[in-house]
Amino acid sequence: MSDLRTLTGITTPVAILGARRARAIHLRKLRDRSLGDSHPLECPDQSRMLDEGGCRIHPESGIFVAGHRGLVGSAVVQALAARGYQQILTRTRQQLDLTDANAVESFFAETRPEYVVLAAAKVGGILANITYPAEFIRENLAIQNHVIEASRRAGVHRLLFLGSSCIYPKLCPQPIKEESLLTGPLEATNRPYALAKIAGIEMCWSYNRQYGTSYLAVMPANLYGPGDNFDLRTSHVLPALLRKAVEAKRTGSRELVVWGTGTPRRELLYSEDMAQACIFLLELEDQRYHSLISESDPPLVNIGTGKDVTIRELAEMVCRVVGFDGELVFDTSKPDGTPRKLLDVGKIEALGWRASTALEDGIALTYKAFGALLD
Ligand code: NDP
Repeated sequence: MSDLRTLTGITTPVAILGARRARAIHLRKLRDRSLGDSHPLECPDQSRMLDEGGCRIHPESGIFVAGHRGLVGSAVVQALAARGYQQILTRTRQQLDLTDANAVESFFAETRPEYVVLAAAKVGGILANITYPAEFIRENLAIQNHVIEASRRAGVHRLLFLGSSCIYPKLCPQPIKEESLLTGPLEATNRPYALAKIAGIEMCWSYNRQYGTSYLAVMPANLYGPGDNFDLRTSHVLPALLRKAVEAKRTGSRELVVWGTGTPRRELLYSEDMAQACIFLLELEDQRYHSLISESDPPLVNIGTGKDVTIRELAEMVCRVVGFDGELVFDTSKPDGTPRKLLDVGKIEALGWRASTALEDGIALTYKAFGALLD
């Protein structure tokens, strides 16, 4: 993930809208429509659940989405609400700091969630990872330690722990299989973050063995979607390209500068597809869910599209969507990052889940959401 952020640079002054403001508006919308505490969400589509008969979770079961204002958490909350779940528990960081063990314990004791999606984490780009390595390891270890232990004490049925494709060894055989975890050196710049996440996976595995829990790590590819971070200083490659294309079009510029050679390959997963994958796993019948949780292997499953594109292809797609017909200029003085990072998604596909949003469609949806923030 971090290396993606090295692929884009700040090329134009922020001309359109402060990215922080855009994100703040998105967060405010989310805060307004979602909970901030445990009030039941509106249930727009309960009949669907009953008709399909596929849901193994009671519509009124408590589901705690930690990190509900983030890219992943916000998509999960919206997808759960659309699926008819009525007790989606959320807390802002101000209401519940997950690095505070006592507060987390009290929250679980009081609300007794049955399912947890742990999408809260300290997440950042290469610069943040290099500048604050101590915070990355300390905060992520603390958040996951507290939430996983409190989940055990509260008897949580299933917990999904957000891992990441960027915690696999830096030079993995491609496509990356789940078995590749811990088989080689990590990317140096995000070691503290990656090791915290790997400890979280180890913790889920240990808890499953010792306490009979059913905790599973989900390992998404690079994510993008509405509510993404469009701040050029810290954003991932896709929102950065999108923003640059929008700015270039508005200012009449004929050039769009992309970091690196444009040849590295990346897999991108739309955040709403990620949310659907989480729901699929939460609802999966016991036998199939437990096939992912064995004593002999870490409990993890890759989530992606199984397809990647070059950065050049991605930039061309973004330009098509935005309607920018200028020239792409590749700044080869900037680093390329890892040459390829493609997940093997055979495991989740064999269970019956597949990403449904084509990359260009997802980019168009993200562009639309970004455009709405600009209006
Ligand atoms: P975001 O940064 O968008 O969201 C993280 C969320 O965690 C925010 O809502 C934040 O709250 C919350 N949070 C952080 N620290 C605390 C704390 N101490 N107490 C309470 N809440 C806290 O991250 P993403 O949604 O992008 O990522 C979610 C997970 O998915 C992470 O574990 C990440 O590693 C993983 N992932 C992400 C990928 C990506 O491309 N984005 C790719 C692969 C994995 P607040 O809003 O208050 O800051």
